[in-house]
Amino acid sequence: MASEGEWPAIGIDLGTTYSCVAVWQNDRVEIIVNDQGNRTTPSYVAFNDKERLVGDAAKNQVARNPTNSIFDAKRLIGMRFSDSLVQNDIKRWPFKVIEGPIDKPMIVVTYKGEEKHFAAEEISSMVIKYMREIAEAYLGTTVSNAVVTVPAYFNDSQRKATKDAGGIAGLNVMRIINEPTAAAICYGFDKVDIGKRNVLIFDLGGGTTDVSLLTIDDCNFEVKAVAGNTRLGGEDFDNRMLKHFVKIFKRDHKVDISGNAKALRRLRTACERAKRILSSTAETTIEVDSLYNGIDFSSIITRAKFAELNMGLFRKSIELVEKCLTDAKMDKSEIHDVVLSGGSSRIPRVQELLQDLFDGKQLNKSINPDEAVAYGAAVHAAKMAGMGNEKVQNIVLLDVIPLSLGVEVLIGDMSVVIPRNTVIPTKMEENYTTTYDYQTSVLFSVYEGERARVIDNNWLGEFNLSPIPAAPKGFAKIKVCFEIDANGILNVSAVEQTTGVNCKITITNYKASLSTQEIHRMVQDAEKYKVEDDEHKKNVRAKEALENYAYKMRNILNGKEIGEKLDTDGKEKIEAAVKQVIHLLEGVQHAEGDDN
Ligand code: AMP
Repeated sequence: MASEGEWPAIGIDLGTTYSCVAVWQNDRVEIIVNDQGNRTTPSYVAFNDKERLVGDAAKNQVARNPTNSIFDAKRLIGMRFSDSLVQNDIKRWPFKVIEGPIDKPMIVVTYKGEEKHFAAEEISSMVIKYMREIAEAYLGTTVSNAVVTVPAYFNDSQRKATKDAGGIAGLNVMRIINEPTAAAICYGFDKVDIGKRNVLIFDLGGGTTDVSLLTIDDCNFEVKAVAGNTRLGGEDFDNRMLKHFVKIFKRDHKVDISGNAKALRRLRTACERAKRILSSTAETTIEVDSLYNGIDFSSIITRAKFAELNMGLFRKSIELVEKCLTDAKMDKSEIHDVVLSGGSSRIPRVQELLQDLFDGKQLNKSINPDEAVAYGAAVHAAKMAGMGNEKVQNIVLLDVIPLSLGVEVLIGDMSVVIPRNTVIPTKMEENYTTTYDYQTSVLFSVYEGERARVIDNNWLGEFNLSPIPAAPKGFAKIKVCFEIDANGILNVSAVEQTTGVNCKITITNYKASLSTQEIHRMVQDAEKYKVEDDEHKKNVRAKEALENYAYKMRNILNGKEIGEKLDTDGKEKIEAAVKQVIHLLEGVQHAEGDDN
């Protein structure tokens, strides 16, 4: 077991819109501030002719460079290009996404004048790597281990892809834990002797909604049920407001700006700001100078109008709470605390709806909605790294799988092997047989989802069991075993019991997941980008130093700084050299400015 501080393991909340990193230190959790002094970091990566930017720097330049500024990678990770949800998102993103090999979505950017294609895992790995660097700068040491969080409702391929992203960032992802479970750790961690409590975590983030119902008893956190939507969050509220203002602009100025990426980006930023303001005031004004063709845009929005625009989405999030209660077979009166997590849980109308559902019960706002998930992840990371106090070490997490897992039987029916909300890790078996006479192999297709027909569920992968002894149908005895690890990742094995022929696979959704070779290639690329970033930063620093030196020399020559006395000849020579250096530097800066 490593002693505290020797092997720091960090907790990373990899959010759709913002990420946060925390570590256990000095007997408590420290939320680590980034180089801009912020406790959360935009999950943005941007590319330009000279460099790659991550976090605040990437988000700050987005209006100038919308097509090469990537956000929302979490909405793409572990998904297929042909998925209608992905297709819908693509329509509103200013950056380009194309179909890569085997239906994998690939993000297209121009970096240093060249077209580059990135998988969502690679973009997420850049954010993770940046969060790791923030932690390393703070701790003054290398960090190799982390716990990374995912929405509770992430499926098998999304979880695996997130784990891959951590690997590409050079981190050992010790565990993937669910965001609301991490928030529950934050809620329950410093509570002593409060007895057994049923707690509902309502986690409404930037891109996802998760509802988890847990029973917390001292250090034991047992998840009873989860419900969620991986495409419902603050960004969707921003989009509704954006659409509203695009309409207003069209009405007032007879121009449709819906095809102008730059104008939309600036308006979207103003919408997000207004949305936040509306959580504390009843009315605000959106103002964007020279939004389109020199037209200044200004319009008022009230809290009531914002709620009206989003009421359908707000209700959807509340329906998830009802579903979670039903799945946990618990009545709302049995819930001791309804805990708010995620930045969007601050929206007053959402809080009102939630409070109404619980018959006016006071909502629990004891945790910081932006930081609670990273906090819980850091506690769990400390436990796994053998750090932290007795309480950290005593924590027991019992999480569940969000979706039922099974195989296809007959023609297209779903046979469930592990029902949703089963506690993990777990192992369950089911017996199958052949469907026609003298069948010598069986193809198993593995799915996840709640629908009776596999076509309506999510296909995870397939495997073939052979040879099976040729015999009349129904003779072979095939035992299929589903095993889910603590990360929620599935392994499947099957054995024909009369002959002992067996087959074992890790479900890697080859339509969406990366191969080992691809991950290896991406790890190498990530290193290359890091070297290039460092090189660029070194050049910028060297240029700054030279510039400072040239100006200093000029000041000495002009007698503005104390310096040695120079004869006329020496003075003229230095003056010429300084002039040349400043001229050169100004030229370089001009060229850089023109690029943006
Ligand atoms: P998270 O993923 O938990 O970091 O949540 C980020 C989301 O919360 C973003 O969509 C933010 O715009 C949103 N958010 C943050 N603060 C507020 C607020 N005061 N009111 C409404 N939404 C907010």
